[in-house]
Amino acid sequence: MNKKPPQGLATRAIHGSASKDAHGSPYTPIYNTTTFSFSSSAALLDVVEGRKPGSLYTRYGQNPTIQSLEETLAGLENAELAWTFCSGMAAISTLFLTYGRDGIACVGDVYGGTMELLSSQLPQLGIRTHLILGKEIDRLDELLAAGSKLVFCETPANPTLELLDIRAIAARTHAHGALLAIDNTFASPVNQRPLELGADLVVHSATKYLGGHSDLTAGVLMGSKQLLMPAWSWRKNLGGMLAPETAALLSRSLRTLAVRVAQQNASAQAIAEAMARHPRVARVLYPGLPDFPGHALARSQMHGFGGMLTIEVKGGGDAATQVADRLRLFTLAPSLGGAESLVTQPCTTSHHDLTKEERARRGISDAMLRLSIGLEDCADLIADLDQALMM
Ligand SMILES: *Cc1c(COP(=O)(O)O)cnc(C)c1O
Repeated sequence: MNKKPPQGLATRAIHGSASKDAHGSPYTPIYNTTTFSFSSSAALLDVVEGRKPGSLYTRYGQNPTIQSLEETLAGLENAELAWTFCSGMAAISTLFLTYGRDGIACVGDVYGGTMELLSSQLPQLGIRTHLILGKEIDRLDELLAAGSKLVFCETPANPTLELLDIRAIAARTHAHGALLAIDNTFASPVNQRPLELGADLVVHSATKYLGGHSDLTAGVLMGSKQLLMPAWSWRKNLGGMLAPETAALLSRSLRTLAVRVAQQNASAQAIAEAMARHPRVARVLYPGLPDFPGHALARSQMHGFGGMLTIEVKGGGDAATQVADRLRLFTLAPSLGGAESLVTQPCTTSHHDLTKEERARRGISDAMLRLSIGLEDCADLIADLDQALMM
């Protein structure tokens, strides 16, 4: 019997690729080449026609640096296959073009680029898209009955950290013969693995936790071989492949993913608790707080509560802006998941283009500050928040 013992996620993040370099390098080096040569036409055809694995052309993803990264990524979500892309949006748009052409139902708040694609660009191609809020989940059956074949959501969502029940949505989706895809960027595979909860496909902006250092842009789509093969041709010809250098950088980041996220979870929990006691903070939204509405669901579908939290400052939007501007260690910038802590005020960044009424409908107030907790000393981060909140 040649069965591998079951391994934990941290081990798989380091040893998840079976490919070994001919010179004994412990990790697949950067194959900074666009193409690969063959000893004969017969050998070339074996690869082209899929009889033998091999490298062929980098834009196809058939490059050892990219292939070993994809093997490792698939292992993190317990997926059969993973396809990498040059950005999270390239992964999401390829997913939509592969499986969303008969209609897409999007549940809850999603990333701004995804929202724009669903509400502006895809309808220009004649694709019917429907966006409902998490609290309107009962409308999902109606959308599925009307023919939507792909359900898409993010959980936890930005910036409210609202959670959606992946198991329950998967059951409803499958009852109508549709597919469920989850954007798992906020949680990372360390904290949540949607495929194990019944989802069919997972996407990540690898720009965030998977990359983890705010120095690369990449995306990934994962799922079964049956579902990923059709997406391969779309990726190949839309051309959104990531570069081998980026693939190598992302592979290096994955080796520390488990320890990074564990530390970010621990710091976020401590900061959430400190902010919940703070006299100048009206509300803290964090799945790890026992009084957070999604806490029980987080316990049942997540392995950690994550490194993202949102605080609502007393005194409204102007007070929140002042706090954001007074923070010194927290940097005012969009994005998340890096080693450095970041702060954004959703009404000035991610949700700036929505009307005040639409933000209110989504439970987003001007007084909210979204924090991405990095890897600094937690006491220093709390001290920074304390000084910025002092008025
Ligand atoms: C950043 C982000 C994206 C888009 O990723 P890019 O790598 O910037 O294209 C998609 N979904 C979520 C949840 C994100 O945070």
